[in-house]
Amino acid sequence: MLDLADDFKPLDILAIAAHPDDVEQTCGGTLIRMAEQGYRTGVLDLTAGEMGTRGTPALRIEESQHAAKHMLCAWRGNQRFPDARLDNSLPARMTLAGEIRRLRPRVVILPYWEGRHPDHYVASKLGYESCFLAGLAKLDEGESVPHRPFKVIYASLYANVTPSFVVDISAQFERRMKALLAYRSQYGDHVEGSGLFPKEEEIRERLGSVARFYGNLIGVKYGEPFVVKEAMRVDDIAQMGVRSF
Ligand SMILES: [Zn+2]
Repeated sequence: MLDLADDFKPLDILAIAAHPDDVEQTCGGTLIRMAEQGYRTGVLDLTAGEMGTRGTPALRIEESQHAAKHMLCAWRGNQRFPDARLDNSLPARMTLAGEIRRLRPRVVILPYWEGRHPDHYVASKLGYESCFLAGLAKLDEGESVPHRPFKVIYASLYANVTPSFVVDISAQFERRMKALLAYRSQYGDHVEGSGLFPKEEEIRERLGSVARFYGNLIGVKYGEPFVVKEAMRVDDIAQMGVRSF
């Protein structure tokens, strides 16, 4: 069980991801934008990325807390499930369901359900099934109160699929960049006094071009794409955004 303050208020939005820095790359701009609009946002990383070549788990968790500050998150925790062999097991689902009951998010952001890295698609399925379990009244989880998120959306930035919608993060892009660069062990090139890290510039270019691509789909500078499994509801077709011509 991860630490929560006694006066902890439920989250509006919780992003669940496999590794520290996944969220910064796929939906960090959206989290920042939501926090700026007054929502309580949080991140639950499932592993500490201990199989990565650079940095220790403790360092990556510390860096992830700095990144969370840049993203204006109300809360960030790390489940410390085993990296690179994340398993959608019953104990893992029960543990995660317990956390979802304590955090009580209305919206959960999960990784897209297909991908190159097994941890990402396992995190997607594990997250979805845990959200379902968390709402079962008869689930044996001690004293916890059942809670099922209202909405699950999938961050699809690294999946080559047409998004259901794109969030305009033009005003949040720089802040998201700062959040990602908080992972010095991953993104610094560790050469002192060389001015701007070449690596940093390369990352900026890569993230910038991906965000530009998705922004272009909705006629803005930078965007983050999402997929939903349900239909999107529209109440006023006269007010729909994104021009056709
Ligand atoms: Zn990852």
